[in-house]
Amino acid sequence: MEQTPHIAFFPLLAMGHLIPLVEFAKRLVLTHNFTATFVLPTNAPSLPAAPKSLLDSLPTGIDYILLPPVNLEDLPSDVKIETVIAHTVSRSLPALRGVLKSLVPSFRVVALVVDLFATEAFDVAAEFNLSPYFFFASTAMTLSLFLRLPKLDESVSCEYRDLPEPVQIPGCPPVHGRDLLDPVQDRKNDAYQRLLHVVRRYTSAEGIIVNTFKELEGGAIKALQEEEPGYPPVYPIGPLVQMSGAEDGSECLRWLDDQPRGSVLFVCFGSAATHSFDQLTELALGLEMSEHRFLWVVRSPNDKVASYVIDDQNNPFAFLPNGFLERTKGFGLVVPSWGPQAKILSHGSTGGFLMHCGWNSTLESIVNGVPMIAWPLYAEQKMNTVTLTEALKVALRPKAGDNGIIGRTEIAKVVKDLMEGQEGNLIRSRMRGLKEAAGRALSEDGDSTKSLAQLVQKWKNKIMN
Ligand code: UDP
Repeated sequence: MEQTPHIAFFPLLAMGHLIPLVEFAKRLVLTHNFTATFVLPTNAPSLPAAPKSLLDSLPTGIDYILLPPVNLEDLPSDVKIETVIAHTVSRSLPALRGVLKSLVPSFRVVALVVDLFATEAFDVAAEFNLSPYFFFASTAMTLSLFLRLPKLDESVSCEYRDLPEPVQIPGCPPVHGRDLLDPVQDRKNDAYQRLLHVVRRYTSAEGIIVNTFKELEGGAIKALQEEEPGYPPVYPIGPLVQMSGAEDGSECLRWLDDQPRGSVLFVCFGSAATHSFDQLTELALGLEMSEHRFLWVVRSPNDKVASYVIDDQNNPFAFLPNGFLERTKGFGLVVPSWGPQAKILSHGSTGGFLMHCGWNSTLESIVNGVPMIAWPLYAEQKMNTVTLTEALKVALRPKAGDNGIIGRTEIAKVVKDLMEGQEGNLIRSRMRGLKEAAGRALSEDGDSTKSLAQLVQKWKNKIMN
């Protein structure tokens, strides 16, 4: 049998979860001589373009196996994303078992590292005597909340948003209940019960890998590592971000090459989010009104704010206001559905990022020192916004009107404030500091490098024993 340590991953096909896990696997394989296999559950009939191009570009030493798509036709059409994920995971466990049956005799598989929503797979890990770990592709703050959620659930009887006082997560800024993540906002909904079920298994992990770093979330990490008896060891190994995506993206980069340094606002809302038609219209008109250079990844509108797997079959340009593309041609570039975000954020012409506060996008912005406009949409993005605007003060936040829509005038104002204003300058200088801190975390003797080395040693020791 092969003596190289091998890790089996059980991630979600959602890009925000897959991208950092791929980066983590690359570190193990390219720097620490591991091999790895990604075993992917799905509910999509075929592999959508973005994950396909990511998975097809994996380096030697990392394989992937796409499990047969599960059938979710029995679920009501209005279920929340967490319910879809939970059923996709649990219905894929027999197929995961089948893959491990052939993988385990051929490789020295030391651990099964699962997605933060896939702890149900720990039962399968136990059957094969594999160490159960999970990868937390979000903040230490959210991790801390999840670890505490079963107790919070017992002690609070109302909806969290009706709590008179903010929720105190040790080492973190106080968060109002209404800003807690989406699936906890309606405790009667199946999505909340699914989440509770998933996080109850967290303490049975042998370790938790979290994509953050000490200088960014020092208080939360310290509380998790030192003050909480009974929690598994937590390994903060971030910021792990894609430095250049697998996609081509030459049109965007050529356009950026022709723009002045730091002049372009990049507008992109992650891999899964969409806006309503009315909000899309206001955003377009706000960007136009700002008269600022922009590069916008636009998606077809949808009243559902996020989908598990985005596969935009429509032409998003067809939904833009009449004449918008012609009128903004001189200062804006609009690309449909997906853009090479990693390359755009590291380009010298990019000077701001209007984004949804997804954690990967946030880290990518930090690594490149790009100041942000925070426009949270779903999942834990409101919590991330609290950290970015109130604790770190590296983002501006536009205000929605009474109808819940952020209007064009507000958008134009916040864009100007970030790109030209005094406050924008302050934010830019704080972002430079965070960029340097991110570099330190990943340097040869940085905190995150040391944390990863500890985990690697633990896994290598398993083979020796
Ligand atoms: N992304 C990209 N191009 C796009 C949209 C997203 O490369 O047009 C990448 C982005 O760089 C990030 C990930 O997809 O790595 C999105 O993850 P994030 O956690 O920010 O948001 P989510 O998609 O999970 O909401």
